[in-house]
Amino acid sequence: MTPIDSLVTGLDPDSDGFWREVGRKHLPVRRCTACDTRFVLPLPACPECGCPDLEIIESSGAGSLYSWVVVNYAFDEQLSRQVPYVVGAIDLDERARLFARVEGVEPEAIVPGLRLTATFPDDAGRPPIVFVPEKGGCR
Ligand SMILES: [Zn+2]
Repeated sequence: MTPIDSLVTGLDPDSDGFWREVGRKHLPVRRCTACDTRFVLPLPACPECGCPDLEIIESSGAGSLYSWVVVNYAFDEQLSRQVPYVVGAIDLDERARLFARVEGVEPEAIVPGLRLTATFPDDAGRPPIVFVPEKGGCR
């Protein structure tokens, strides 16, 4: 079982392609060809202008922490064994934001703008995308 197989929410037709890319250790970013909006969610059209013409950009996985929460209680049994953990809003260098687990830094040491890089754990029961601090910290 891989992290993708063990997703709490499971796969659905809309997100299947995205998670399969993540399972191959790629982080796809969608770019609207009409307005240049970039986003990570596997939406069929641009959330800003509704244009369905999207292209995929391969993210480097590098970004900066915009904001975060420390989860101390989880309703899901699998996640409740992992608390406390940090979920961050990460602004990728490709100008798309996503929410993902942040590890490798104590919650009280986290600061806005912390430079992070995506990792893709192979073990089941772990999130399929985990961001960890880049060497060098903040920009
Ligand atoms: Zn657009």
